[in-house]
This record gives sequence, C-alpha cells and structure tokens, in this order.
Amino acid sequence: MSKRRVLLIATGGTIASTEDGSGLAPTMTGPELARQVPLLDTLCELDFVQPMNIDSTNMRPRDWLCIAREVRRAYDDYDGFVILHGTDTMAYTAAALSYLVRDSEKPIVLTGSQQPMANPFTDAKLNLYQSVLYACDEASRDVSVVFGGKVICGTRARKQRTMSFNAFTSMNYPSLAYVRGSRIVRPAGAPGSEKSGARPCFYDSLDERVIVLKLTPELRPSIFDLLRADYDAVILETFGIGGIPAYDGSYQRAIFDWVDSGRTLVVTTQVPEEGLDLGVYEVGHAYAEKDGILKGDDMTTEALVAKTMWALGQTRDPAEVARLFYEPINHDRMPR
Ligand code: ASP
Repeated sequence: MSKRRVLLIATGGTIASTEDGSGLAPTMTGPELARQVPLLDTLCELDFVQPMNIDSTNMRPRDWLCIAREVRRAYDDYDGFVILHGTDTMAYTAAALSYLVRDSEKPIVLTGSQQPMANPFTDAKLNLYQSVLYACDEASRDVSVVFGGKVICGTRARKQRTMSFNAFTSMNYPSLAYVRGSRIVRPAGAPGSEKSGARPCFYDSLDERVIVLKLTPELRPSIFDLLRADYDAVILETFGIGGIPAYDGSYQRAIFDWVDSGRTLVVTTQVPEEGLDLGVYEVGHAYAEKDGILKGDDMTTEALVAKTMWALGQTRDPAEVARLFYEPINHDRMPR
C-alpha cells in the first residue's frame, strides 16, 4: 500500500519559538520542526508549506483565510493536513477552519505545544507525532485539535491552562478520541467516519467586525452606541444561564435598538459549561423571541466569534444569517 500523504502547514507559535533575549518568538520552519521527530517518516510522506511564522497572538481572520486557501489549493493531493499553530488562539482558528472548510472528509488537525521544540522537556514532539498519526488514520475527518493526548472537535476546543501540557479542554462535548502512545482510541459512539468522496464546501469571506462583550455589574448599556461605528455584531456574554440586567429597562432599549438597526446580537453565557437558556429567568425572557437575536446555546465563545464572522461574511439577509448560524457544523452546537 502506498504511504499516506500529509501536508504540514507551519504557522509559528511556541512550538517553533526560540529565545534571543527579548522573549520567545517563532523562528523554526516546518521542515526544521519535523526533523526533530524522525519517527514521522514511518507514518507518511510529509510536505510543507509555511504561509506565516507568527505568535498566534498576531493571528487574524485574514490569516485564517490564508490557511484555508492553503488547504483548498492542496486538498486533492493529500490524505490529511496538520497545522502547527500557537496555542493562545488555536481554538479560534480551529473553529474558523471548521466553517471555512466545511464537511471535510479528510482530517485537518491543529496542534502546537506549551514548550518550544528546543526545550529538553518539551511536549512538542509527542503532539506533532500524535497529530500526524491522527491525520493519517482512515477514520479521521473534519477539523480537530490534537493536544496532550486528546482529540478535540475543532469547534469545541478551549485553551484552559497556560502552562500544563493538557492545555485544551473539550467544552460541552466529549473528546473525539484519545491517543495513547501510538494508538488512537475512539470511544464507542464517537461521530462516524463514513466517507463518500465528496469535497468539502470552501468559503473565502469573513466579516471581521464582530466583538465579544462580557457583562459585568454596572456595565453601561450606552456601550452599544459606542460600538456602532466599528462593529456589525456583538456576542454578549450574559450572566448565568442568560441574565441581562433589567433594573431600569435601559439594556433592553439598547439591545433592541442595536438589532433594529440591522446589526446582529448573539446571546451567550459567561459561564464556561452547559450553555444558555433565555427561557428560565424573567431577566432573560424579553430576548428569547426577539427577531435578530441569535442564541449561542452550548457553543463556545470562540466558535461563536468564528461562526458569526463566517455567516455575516456570506450574507446580510437576517433570515439567511440565522439559518447559517443555527445549522450545526462540525458538532458546534447541540440545540436544546
Ligand atoms: N504565545 C504563543 C502562541 O500562541 C503560545 C503558544 O503557542 O503556546 O503563539
């Protein structure tokens, strides 16, 4: 049987970083990183592209589009893709790629590390090896994050720890698989891997004018007026299961004005687990059935940012935005 072919898309991050006296910064290239893990040769034939070499703090939606274009350009020539990426914004990029390269029967895996490849105690080698292993596996598909022995759906990842090697958690959804040494363990009932030979749907536009606003006690609703010039959508992280202050009606006026002006409001919760339900408390009720208000349900804020940018990048028709937004993609939401 011929060897599987994997394209390694190196973008920077700690994994590629070295220290020159002014802090860690990415300098190592994809081939240099792969040479540190000779066992990769036993798994597949690897090719490389390096669209950028940046700290993921500097990763922007235009860079997500650039990575998606690399996948699109090479899609037919490879069995899988591994993207080396900084951990800090990896969850955003993984979510964005889930929408920009939708329904991919070939695996698109993101990984990185908490310690640089050059550090003697690095996690980079195992993460790189296990990501390529997962990308070579016939049963893998769609966008995922492989990190610290866990495979997390690309729309469900969150960076939860700044230092430990198990940096990522799968939010409100089970991990897709575990990698134990060089064995992939898929839990019974994990999403199916049936393949029909269909190509994914590729997209190449995003609306970057999306902001996340976290409610804090006494935050002034006049903030919505200040945001009008620069933003088309607000993702509002409410209290608890969906509480928005109701003491004087000013929030409701500000939010209804915002959506009545043709802008988008996505309501979510600032509580990390279990999601939103605007129907439970009186302080959320007014927003439950208002046209133009979209409900984040159990989605991560990272996926909400990416999905809102993607949906508004495709259309300005509110009904069509809502249709795209509510369609489950890469297991991003479990509607109530
Ligand atoms: N600042 C780094 C980055 O996101 C952190 C890392 O990769 O772990 O690029």
